[in-house]
Amino acid sequence: MTKPLNSIPQEQLNEWVEQAKQKAHLGKLPKYIPLLGQADPNEFIFSIQTFDNYHFSNGNLSKTFSFMSVNKVFLLLYLLNQLGNKFILQRVGAEASDYPFNSLSQLQLDQGFPRNPMINSGAITLAGLLGEYTLDGCEYLLMWLNHYSGSQLFLDEDMLESVRSLPNPKNQALVDELFKRGAIKNPENALDTYQKICCLSGNITDLANIGLMIIQCSKIQDKTRQIVQEIMLNCGLYEDSKTFASKTGFPSKSGVSGAMLSIVPQQGIIACYSPPLDEKGNSVAGVFLIEKIAEFLNG
Ligand code: GLN
Repeated sequence: MTKPLNSIPQEQLNEWVEQAKQKAHLGKLPKYIPLLGQADPNEFIFSIQTFDNYHFSNGNLSKTFSFMSVNKVFLLLYLLNQLGNKFILQRVGAEASDYPFNSLSQLQLDQGFPRNPMINSGAITLAGLLGEYTLDGCEYLLMWLNHYSGSQLFLDEDMLESVRSLPNPKNQALVDELFKRGAIKNPENALDTYQKICCLSGNITDLANIGLMIIQCSKIQDKTRQIVQEIMLNCGLYEDSKTFASKTGFPSKSGVSGAMLSIVPQQGIIACYSPPLDEKGNSVAGVFLIEKIAEFLNG
């Protein structure tokens, strides 16, 4: 039986936060998006929110940051909801990847069928669909999330400019391959929409609130929420997904900004932000804290 999140003593949480901050020194800031390379490596923010309104947060709650790949979860959630589970799952798989999140080899190995929507090839494919089926895909996604979660997400234009300032050859190679294989119809639009989605930003409470939609939004079918949670569990931390899932049992997703989101089944959400990353691209301190919480709850 998992213990309730509110049974963790607050001094215990504070102690793990101190340890997590120390661990963060082992990580590195990404360089390929210049603004992410300028983030404060000592910043550590996290929030726990449960259905029954237990909240615990730590760090600068008004600080906003881009959620980057964590937003892939919400792109998936939105499209499953709008276009149907069957339609979407014919276009992306649900298996963990063996290679890094932006790997062309993985996509080629899978003959152009993205292995899952949590890696770049899958998310770019879905971003292509969003662009194809809606007028300004990213704008709709943003409005939908804010409407149903009560968050105040926004498109961080400075981050978007930074992403665009250093064209990413790995993502471009994925786009070319996806286009060649017919997975996307308009490569420029797919990449542009994908980049905007990565730059949707907010504070830690916004992240936790949109996270809660995956477990309790009445507008979304149970089956859809279940699919999203399974994909997060199996694929959310790239090549580390299986290890992390077996350690925690929490459906989770990380992003290169150092944002991280975990679902504690039947209970609520843990949202974290700490920019230094391990070599797979996951927040060092975020992974540490969530593993500690899981150990306590499952112990
Ligand atoms: N925009 C980033 C990229 O495409 C997001 C990736 C991530 O957060 N893992 O590389």
